[in-house]
Amino acid sequence: MRQVSTWQARALLNRSTPSRYGFDVTVNPYRGCAHACHYCYARDTHRYLELNIADDFSQKLFVKERSPAQIRKELGRLPLDQVIALGTATDPYQPLEGRYRITRHLLEAVVGSGHALTITTKSPLILRDLDLLNTLAKRGQVRVQVSLISLDRLVLGRLEPGAPSPEVRLRTLAQLSQHRVPTVLFAAPILPYITDQEASLKALFTRARESGVDAVMASRLRLSPTVKPYFLSQLAHHYPDLAEAYQRLYPGSAQYPLESYSHTLKQTLLRLHHTLDLPSTWPIPRAWRTLDQPQFELIP
Ligand code: SF4
Repeated sequence: MRQVSTWQARALLNRSTPSRYGFDVTVNPYRGCAHACHYCYARDTHRYLELNIADDFSQKLFVKERSPAQIRKELGRLPLDQVIALGTATDPYQPLEGRYRITRHLLEAVVGSGHALTITTKSPLILRDLDLLNTLAKRGQVRVQVSLISLDRLVLGRLEPGAPSPEVRLRTLAQLSQHRVPTVLFAAPILPYITDQEASLKALFTRARESGVDAVMASRLRLSPTVKPYFLSQLAHHYPDLAEAYQRLYPGSAQYPLESYSHTLKQTLLRLHHTLDLPSTWPIPRAWRTLDQPQFELIP
């Protein structure tokens, strides 16, 4: 039974160390995530609420309540050259957003403030906000990353039990692209021996290209010390034949797969980028200055 609690957060914007993905500030309007991906590194964050990283993460959800005025005030204090990443530890368009609309209030405030942002989601609910995304896209101020690791519904049903189907996510990408919103396919993480076959990745990237994505990003599976035992228990349940292979690939306290595996995966990805002629640069969102700000000074 899912429980939802509201929480008067002191702030919605969190300063972050500058990321190689090009953002300075993170925003996660919710804690926990109903999409329930077993590999999710954000499961770890539920420990700080003294909850477990297993079912509690997807069943005990928290809404960070901030009024539109409070959000505008926070943005007003943020330098305009700081880029916001929305959805780094939760899906900002998970079903809760349909009711609480914190993500929409943030986008409305960003349209007014002129900041640039990236959004990561698996949900078609983002299409509800096409009006705002259109405005931001015309100013080059937004990039949307839709995460999808496979076209295989059986795999996703086991490992992302609460997330929308691959077809729904591809249609979401296509609709965003048709409205000229810059999009990236996030094939992250690639799961060893489950989603890493070259033919499967090729099929996924090809469908993404047909949906109009501007870039494709992929990454290895990282298993943090706390998420690792949870993920391996799910693996043993759904893929018992792979349990030993994963123990060999992530020996002891290793968070990343063996270097030999990572090297082979990188070669596969480079080959696919070349074969499919995938763009290697990302559309970078940039801050936009509202028209009521002076663009130049008149010298009397
Ligand atoms: S949608 Fe994202 S935040 Fe939610 S569980 Fe899956 S990986 Fe984690």
